[in-house]
Amino acid sequence: MATATALPMFDERERPPREKITACVHCGLCLDKCPTYRLLGTEMDSPRGRIYLIKAVSEGRLAMTPSFVEHMYLCLECRACETACPSGVEFGSLMELARAQIERHVPRPWWQRLLRWLVFDELFPYPWRMEQLCHLLRGYQRLGVQTLVRRLRLLALLPARLRRMEAMLPPVPKRPFTRSVPPWLPARPPRQHRVALFSGCVMNLFFPDVHEATVRVLQANGCEVWVAPQQVCCGALHVHAGEREQAKRLARRNILVFERQEVDAIINNAAGCGAHLKTYGELLADDPDFAERAHHFSAKVQDIAEFLARTPLRGPLAPLRQRVAYDDPCHLLHAQRIGEQPRRLLRQIPELELVPVTDADFCCGAAGIYNLTHPEVSQRLLEQKIAHLVAAKPDVVATGNVGCILQLQAGMQQAGLAIPVVHPVTLLARAYEAAGTG
Ligand code: SF4
Ligand code: SF4
Repeated sequence: MATATALPMFDERERPPREKITACVHCGLCLDKCPTYRLLGTEMDSPRGRIYLIKAVSEGRLAMTPSFVEHMYLCLECRACETACPSGVEFGSLMELARAQIERHVPRPWWQRLLRWLVFDELFPYPWRMEQLCHLLRGYQRLGVQTLVRRLRLLALLPARLRRMEAMLPPVPKRPFTRSVPPWLPARPPRQHRVALFSGCVMNLFFPDVHEATVRVLQANGCEVWVAPQQVCCGALHVHAGEREQAKRLARRNILVFERQEVDAIINNAAGCGAHLKTYGELLADDPDFAERAHHFSAKVQDIAEFLARTPLRGPLAPLRQRVAYDDPCHLLHAQRIGEQPRRLLRQIPELELVPVTDADFCCGAAGIYNLTHPEVSQRLLEQKIAHLVAAKPDVVATGNVGCILQLQAGMQQAGLAIPVVHPVTLLARAYEAAGTG
């Protein structure tokens, strides 16, 4: 990516802070929890090795060489190293800042610059454009084009990454969630809370059923729900890809939208978005107009499992006689430290059997767009994950993140298995519905 004559160094803008780098005492306790270290066995693909590289560039002993860039981007940003680290190293934040330095200084080939501009600047920040793209994809699926393309094996002509994207494309719903509901949805009396729902971009377009389930469960538990119009993508993909300035613009827009109503909590049901929404305060810390407002916003953000598990669920819930394997999304468990709450909620459904899964805390290889940028590592992680899930003999797999749902669905499909993969809130909504209360 860079020429040998002008290898770039970190600049002073949002430099990875020295105190965060030196918090690592090189004990190595995180190594066994790091998926890339376990797979590749190389020190520079471990958390400790990556921190060492960031430190070396920060101290001017190393430039941002192609090898440095590769080790930074091979990281899944799963943050399993953070939960394993006794010294409290904030690895996710260090990695985000290091990647922003890379994107500012290391030139990319023209086609990558074009693709990133299209995706990060011209598509994701604009809900209307995302919706139009979905209409095209829906036409592709519904008008028989997809069937024809697959039958004629035309996909073989596409690059591997596009083939993978096509294979993972879920059935595109007719309407985004936000177009099918009024802005305010009433609580089942007695009303206990007023909450806002963060509808996001991909969730809103591809998983309106999960939002519907979320709203039904919230309503059943005494929440009046506000689906704020004009909210935009949270910016998590941007910040993980080093596009911090666009991520800040999206954060400011969302803060302005959610400031319009006073609510008790801003609920989200996608772990990747939730983890990022909770860091708006940090992202906008240097913005005099937004720093305090961003902290206020982030303090209100709660994952649906986190919010509901604070008190016992309101009944009645009908029995669901199913073996459920719960798989932890990394950005729920490691970034938000929410592991017990979804399990506690599922255990409240009568007759539902929660079955243990080996390495449930280990990344499935989805990691945002990692499954597209690093398909081989992602595939190996997926195969391990599917083997562990299948060994648990579940009727259904539950996980609380859109990327993980898509990745695990693709894994089940590859393995020729018909085990459904759903969001935990979908199971709760089914139990309420069957009891006539959802
Ligand atoms: S974030 Fe995940 S992949 Fe990256 S260093 Fe930490 S444990 Fe390894
Ligand atoms: S990141 Fe934490 S666990 Fe890993 S080597 Fe550094 S101090 Fe030890």
